[in-house]
Amino acid sequence: MAIPIPSRQLFIDGEWREPVHKNRIPIINPATEETIGDIPAATAEDVEIAVEAARKALVRNGGKDWANATGAHRAKYLRAIAAKITEKKSYLAKLEAIDCGKPLEEAAWDIDDVAGCFEYFADLAEAFDSKRKTPVSVPMDTFKCYVLKEPLGVVGLITPWNYPMLMATWKVAPALAAGCTAILKPSELASITCLELAEVCRDVGLPSGVLNILTGFGPEAGAPLVSHPDVDKVSCDLPFCFSVSCFSFELDVLHCNDHPPSMVNQQIAFTGSSATGSKIMTAAASLVKPVTLELGGKSPIVVFEDVDLDKAAEWALFGCFWTNGQICSATSRLIVHESIAEAFLEKLVKWCKNIKISDPLEEGCRLGPIVSSGQYEKVLKFISTAKDEGATILCGGAQPQHLKKGFYVEPTIITDVKTSMQIWREEVFGPVLCVKTFTSEEEAIELANDTHYGLGAAVLSQDHERCERLTKAFQAGIVWVNCSQPCFSQAPWGGKKRSGFGRELGEWGLDNYLNVKQVTKYESDDSWGWYKPPTKP
Ligand code: NAD
Repeated sequence: MAIPIPSRQLFIDGEWREPVHKNRIPIINPATEETIGDIPAATAEDVEIAVEAARKALVRNGGKDWANATGAHRAKYLRAIAAKITEKKSYLAKLEAIDCGKPLEEAAWDIDDVAGCFEYFADLAEAFDSKRKTPVSVPMDTFKCYVLKEPLGVVGLITPWNYPMLMATWKVAPALAAGCTAILKPSELASITCLELAEVCRDVGLPSGVLNILTGFGPEAGAPLVSHPDVDKVSCDLPFCFSVSCFSFELDVLHCNDHPPSMVNQQIAFTGSSATGSKIMTAAASLVKPVTLELGGKSPIVVFEDVDLDKAAEWALFGCFWTNGQICSATSRLIVHESIAEAFLEKLVKWCKNIKISDPLEEGCRLGPIVSSGQYEKVLKFISTAKDEGATILCGGAQPQHLKKGFYVEPTIITDVKTSMQIWREEVFGPVLCVKTFTSEEEAIELANDTHYGLGAAVLSQDHERCERLTKAFQAGIVWVNCSQPCFSQAPWGGKKRSGFGRELGEWGLDNYLNVKQVTKYESDDSWGWYKPPTKP
């Protein structure tokens, strides 16, 4: 099953380009701990070249080639990218599984979602042509007002390793659909498929400089991108999407063409940890640069006494252990009604024992390794601190006995948890579920909201009114009812509190990359008449 890892360079201005300092970063397979290749390590000098290429692509031919082309024109490229990705699906899924350790079947799902996301934003790009200019009604007949939506300019996109290609796509697809040009900086821990996205862009003939991909470390390649004066926006961000066809879910959301684009007004979109997000926001603030931040979480799942225990147990485990527990929205705090707690925990342990932990490429794998040795050590430290603080490891908590190599952690359930404990308060980013019980709905809500984060929240109950009450009470950007984690390109994704701000996906995702320009026209033949006219000589 081993496949060769392509050796790539940085992707700048439509070409492979060796980093100025010629440095490379090893790729470690987390399932075997072997070095299987390397990726280029960009630095500030490469960022400079890439930003220049993106700026030129934005204004080339007076903007007519990209930024000011029709949405339909850009949509053709997005559709071609989607088709190429679908063609290479099995290859890309294997690369993803080897690089970040997620089970192959899950990686294949991600690649479907990558293609689906490009298709979806192609649809939005086409629809955008009729929405580019919209009239605004104002209360004075002498004025006509309208709004123009324009691409923001050159955008910097910084992404994490848990959904390497999908997180990149959540930013690249809407940015390109809007007419921006972009520099993508994926995580140094998993960049292989993002470099393959570059190859796809070459294959489909994406105009040079429209998308540039710089791999490298955060401080060396990400930070110069954030602080570059010619990057108009920073975007850093979503863990995964399900193919809509696989499920029956109901989604509810509560709640200029003639001119070349002027100097770039850069923006940064970031997905990653709250600590890095805070640094990025600080750096962007000095240039008053817009940022969208999709950060960490410590999301709750509330289980009421009226659930079907087996169905609820599966959702509770899936909500926390999907992607080896490395999802920003993982519902990693289980809040279960006291009357069913004992029986429910018994079920959870039985279901856990049935989860196949193996090399991600093995058929039927449902839990692969943690992405890197550093993350693996962090997860084990969280577990040992929980023990030291007086919690009980109900199951798991160590490396599985049958796997001697690789950064594997058994699915772990921790009980006897106090709200002051680290395991209750901090994001683990591994297959670790901590549990508390409740007796009243008010108590459940209080426990659910007892966190600095506000990304996701889930409720499992057959009582629909109760589910609605909790939906409103949760302090979160995403709520799941009788499920946990499904996500669709059409629906907005993002958090509140320390989980960040801004929304990706859906039409909100496109708006992230558009500037709203108000145009007001005076249409009367009369003079304005505010000042007394000077007397004629
Ligand atoms: P991270 O913050 O360590 O790194 C994210 C990206 O930022 C990487 O590309 C990294 O190289 C870059 N980076 C690091 N320091 C930087 C700096 N000073 N300037 C600019 N860029 C810098 O996060 P990670 O470990 O890759 O990912 C895990 C985190 O991401 C978790 O906290 C998880 O919750 C979060 N996440 C959030 C979402 C969401 O949608 N909210 C989705 C996926 C992951």
